[in-house]
Amino acid sequence: MNELYEIAQQLDLEDPLKHVKSEFYFPEEKPYYLDGNSLGLMSRQAESAVHNVLDSWKRFGIDGWEKGESPWFTYTHDLRKMSAELIGASFHETAVTGSITSNLHQLLTTFYRPSGKRRKIVMDELAFPTDAYAVKSQLLLHGASEDDLVMIPSADGRLLEMAQIESAIDEETALVLLPTVLYRSGQLLPWKQITDCAHNHGAVIGWDLAHSFGAMPHDLHESGVDFAVWCTYKYANGGPGACGGLFVHEKHADRTPALAGWFGSNPEVQFDMDLQFEPAPDASAYQQGTPHLLSLAPLKGSLQIIQEAGIDAVRSRSLQLTGFLLKGIQELQEVDPSLEVVTPEQGRGGHLAVCHPDAARISRSLKDHGVVPDFRMPDVIRLAPSPLYTSFMDLAEVIEILKNILRNKPYLAYPNERGTIA
Ligand SMILES: *Cc1c(COP(=O)(O)O)cnc(C)c1O
Repeated sequence: MNELYEIAQQLDLEDPLKHVKSEFYFPEEKPYYLDGNSLGLMSRQAESAVHNVLDSWKRFGIDGWEKGESPWFTYTHDLRKMSAELIGASFHETAVTGSITSNLHQLLTTFYRPSGKRRKIVMDELAFPTDAYAVKSQLLLHGASEDDLVMIPSADGRLLEMAQIESAIDEETALVLLPTVLYRSGQLLPWKQITDCAHNHGAVIGWDLAHSFGAMPHDLHESGVDFAVWCTYKYANGGPGACGGLFVHEKHADRTPALAGWFGSNPEVQFDMDLQFEPAPDASAYQQGTPHLLSLAPLKGSLQIIQEAGIDAVRSRSLQLTGFLLKGIQELQEVDPSLEVVTPEQGRGGHLAVCHPDAARISRSLKDHGVVPDFRMPDVIRLAPSPLYTSFMDLAEVIEILKNILRNKPYLAYPNERGTIA
């Protein structure tokens, strides 16, 4: 056994979360699933939570709103509690609803208030496309133009520098929107420092937690963040299209959501059916229509797993895993010097971004060998060891597989093009 395997074996032995892996289902013939940052795997708990909702529907019909193990009317209650813990917020600052895109629209409509010289929205040129689409359409909706969009540039097309971020924010900035972790490179941004910078210039700031929710602890309340959005199908393992979430700091509790709907009502009066909207006195006011019960249900199981593991333990295991993988991949440069990890060692999220000119076809080759990575244009292979269901031994195997692929180049049989999704 080589040294890497020995180290992996030891780390697995000492791993306090090693028992969690057996709660998850792995896709057929794909034992090394490193794509949990796109779609986390299904757990037994998530599965049975979905069955519970189906069972209530079957047995109670409309009465499921008030009957059964988890009545639907208060179904989000536990989910808000568990989500609030993960983001460092209170229950009242947290809602579980919508998608990142729809929540961004809700919160941008509410919080983007261009006035006088203060009209600009600052985001980054490496942003996930849907964030940029939402911001651009909001600018038009508010009578501003794309000239009011300030894109923080990236010198190398992979990372953002603090100096560039700080110099983009000024007295003309109305709102800043940034990701806590960059979706391609895995760079983690210092959200507290940037939040302070935005506030010092009188701007409002929102964060996109897509790649940090469920992967690390947050302190949104303490940091004074104005609002945040996240999805739950990545590190939180909520399943495809599971409901996302939003945070609105309690200092904004007196605001009325710009886009009102009856499930944002104060629950005391919702069924009075009055045409005058009375918003809930907290972040649940930002909900709109009837909660998507079947897309909320898996979260009951999957968030519970994270809660039981403890988010600090999840983060520390995630750092250990990516650290192990990083070292192993760096050593593969002896086999192929074009291979490069571009994720910063200091300040990283839950995945590693590995660049190679043949990244698209190396990704496909990895899949043929039981490894699920994902590919992002133009040359990035993302590898996300899940802090809940990837073992160190799995990573030792992946490094060995990648070594053989780089050495024997079976990927040359494929065109170097992306597939439909990855
Ligand atoms: C995954 C991801 C999204 C996805 O948005 P949805 O509305 O949930 O489809 C948005 N932003 C970032 C940064 C992401 O990584």
